[in-house]
Amino acid sequence: MQIKTAKFVVSNQEVHKCPTNQLPEYAFIGRSNVGKSSLINMLTNQKSLAKTSGRPGKTQLINHFIINENWFLVDLPGYGYARVSKSAKKTFQKFITAYFRERKQLVSAFVLVDIRHKPQPVDLAFMQWLGEHGIPFSIVFTKADKLRPKSIEDHIDTYKNILLESWEEFPNHFITSSTNYAGKEALLNYIETINTDLENSTNKLPFQ
Ligand code: GDP
Repeated sequence: MQIKTAKFVVSNQEVHKCPTNQLPEYAFIGRSNVGKSSLINMLTNQKSLAKTSGRPGKTQLINHFIINENWFLVDLPGYGYARVSKSAKKTFQKFITAYFRERKQLVSAFVLVDIRHKPQPVDLAFMQWLGEHGIPFSIVFTKADKLRPKSIEDHIDTYKNILLESWEEFPNHFITSSTNYAGKEALLNYIETINTDLENSTNKLPFQ
């Protein structure tokens, strides 16, 4: 897929204020500094559509961008555990879980992880949460330019082995780099294929 247009639409923290159009939408999420803004800018051929890290006090928002006037790319804030409650119960930020539970237009999520790091408990917990809630997702390994090909394979294998302890299959995944554009075509083609299937299906969209 060629991205011809990519425009910011709206930012907010409330699912009911997200766009009401019935366009398919794809959400990008990961820990802060994982390379999410760089990836979104790389995918959309823009320098600063998504704001890169380093801004102090960066507000946590659900950001909607409309792509080619026919699907939404959603930039979600870095997840972490919300402030630990008295009972020490750990949860993800409420508005993020509300978005995933309630947003009917959501077709699939992309969970970003830095390919250099061992699987992190918070990422695994988030994928587990998505699985438990029946939300389809792909893993996007970022910053692949920082590793040699053999090392990339080893890191993916480690991830796979850990996930297969609790999952039946290793989720769909992409190996990307915003520096050398690795994975760009594969990821955009994946979205395009789903969008085409949705357009051709009798139900049009899964959420209608
Ligand atoms: P965000 O907080 O997830 O939005 O992360 P950013 O996109 O702001 O990236 C965090 C840091 O990682 C920045 O210094 C980026 O320049 C760097 N970075 C992001 N993606 C890549 C990549 O693919 N390769 C390399 N080498 N650095 C990257």
